[in-house]
Amino acid sequence: MGLRPNLLTRRTAGVASTTLALLLSTAAVGVVPAASAFSAAPTEVCVEPADVHSDARVKPGSGAEHEPNELTLAETREREADMAAALRERARFRAGAGASTMAAAVTIPVVVHVIQENSTRAGGNIPDSMVNSQINVLNQSFSGATGGASTAFSFQLQKINRVTNPSWYPIVQGSSAERSMKTSLRTGGKNTLNIYLGELSDSLLGWATFPTRKLNSMDGVVVLSESLPGGTATNYNQGDTGTHEVGHWLNLYHTFQGGCSGSGDSVSDTAAEASPAYQCPTGRDTCTAPGTDPITNFMDYTYDSCMHQFTAGQASRMLTAWNAYRAA
Ligand SMILES: [Zn+2]
Repeated sequence: MGLRPNLLTRRTAGVASTTLALLLSTAAVGVVPAASAFSAAPTEVCVEPADVHSDARVKPGSGAEHEPNELTLAETREREADMAAALRERARFRAGAGASTMAAAVTIPVVVHVIQENSTRAGGNIPDSMVNSQINVLNQSFSGATGGASTAFSFQLQKINRVTNPSWYPIVQGSSAERSMKTSLRTGGKNTLNIYLGELSDSLLGWATFPTRKLNSMDGVVVLSESLPGGTATNYNQGDTGTHEVGHWLNLYHTFQGGCSGSGDSVSDTAAEASPAYQCPTGRDTCTAPGTDPITNFMDYTYDSCMHQFTAGQASRMLTAWNAYRAA
């Protein structure tokens, strides 16, 4: 179901994970078990602060899918409280500094780390042109040029950093190797977007950290290199994984967060959705609340060809989060 046979083979080969796997049958496209899985703090020597969460985008139907980091209701409540506290903190700081305005337009510096096993394409050596195309996709997506709301954000590539290190390949979500990689490579302040590209564990297309008040070396976005425009990840090779993960980095939840009840994804203009949508199920409507499922939203799990927008509410949430967490 969208996984290339060779990719499938690579991805099922010996990737350990402490997260709870949600197994999907190959026929289960569009259906996801109701249970969510959230990995507790990794049992590594260097303990992750409790407020560092990450989130992932997955493909359906590989037979061994993981949903490593979907948030529970308690976790989203914790995150919402933290953002409110961060905003209060920033307001006090700004008042003390005599600064009155919050940023309304933001250019985000981007550093891209291309993690390679060797110098071959199969070993992660993608051309610079793909990275440049990904930056273009981010700029298009976040400007509203693809049909959604215009957001405050644009992206400026600062550097492509090529790293050949077989011990970081594939990049294994939640592993000590991921921590080592990021600790070694992450550059810039809280406003700098670090993107790590490579082959990924567990059939994942990508994952990202949500913003935190104190910069953590894990901060950043991990994306399957072949999901970049021109890549080989069929149905997921137009660069929208990058857009999705940067959405998380700017504090967006999935559109299906919370299902049909409660505050859902904490954005008022995304219709409630019971579970992730895969492929492009036009007309899907899983909740009795008004509106069909937001399958064209970047924060769902549909094909790249299906998703093309953020909403005004998401744009507002991202800017609020920027001013709370990442603005200078
Ligand atoms: Zn996600």
